[in-house]
Amino acid sequence: MNIQEAILNYLKYTGHKEIHISTALIDMDGVLYDSMKNHTRAWHKLMTKNGIKCTRDEFYSYEGMTGADIIKQLFRQRAGKVVTSDEAAALYQVKSRYFRELGEPQIITGTPQMLLTLKDNNIKRILVTGSGQQSVLDKIDSDFPGIFAPERITAADVTHGKPNPEPYLKAMLKAQVKPFQAMVIENAPLGVQAGHAAGCFTIGITTGPIPPKELAKAGADLVFPSMADFARELPQLLPSLI
Ligand code: MG
Repeated sequence: MNIQEAILNYLKYTGHKEIHISTALIDMDGVLYDSMKNHTRAWHKLMTKNGIKCTRDEFYSYEGMTGADIIKQLFRQRAGKVVTSDEAAALYQVKSRYFRELGEPQIITGTPQMLLTLKDNNIKRILVTGSGQQSVLDKIDSDFPGIFAPERITAADVTHGKPNPEPYLKAMLKAQVKPFQAMVIENAPLGVQAGHAAGCFTIGITTGPIPPKELAKAGADLVFPSMADFARELPQLLPSLI
């Protein structure tokens, strides 16, 4: 689908008369950082050490959920165990330590260029992540100086993580924009579902093992096979979106 078709389609299913993007709501893991392989490794270690049977790859499909939701869901499904919020928080701390021990994740190729293009076009950049991984959140502003607005949404700000639209709805409230003024930049099916359910024009970008068609199926208005492709095409897309 090209940009014109994608916009017409978006206007049709939302009922909006126009699209005027002023704000980009930007996911973190798999969009800014190539961090998902370390997250899946850390999750797998945490779960197997706690006697929960799982595969490492399944954690790619949970991307976007809060850590507490992942822990509660797997313990309930696989061990019939109800985990309290305090227990989930303690387990998440252990998972966060395993993640930190794997080293700092690399910035994804194409991401700095993509962010600078948004900045050059006066599109406000807001971070919207289901993550509570403080070691990564703390380095956003030094890794991407002058890019992100001070308001941000993390796991600490939401009751319902992605695929619930709450993270993106709260981000729009903070930015004081309506859905037709916001575009979501995501790499994971649950994140795309959240952006789509919030009513935003949602761009899905493949940066890991999940194929592009899964992002389209989740409701992405446009899909790109890599961040480098998206970064290269963004300058030509923006005049239609702004
Ligand atoms: Mg992501």
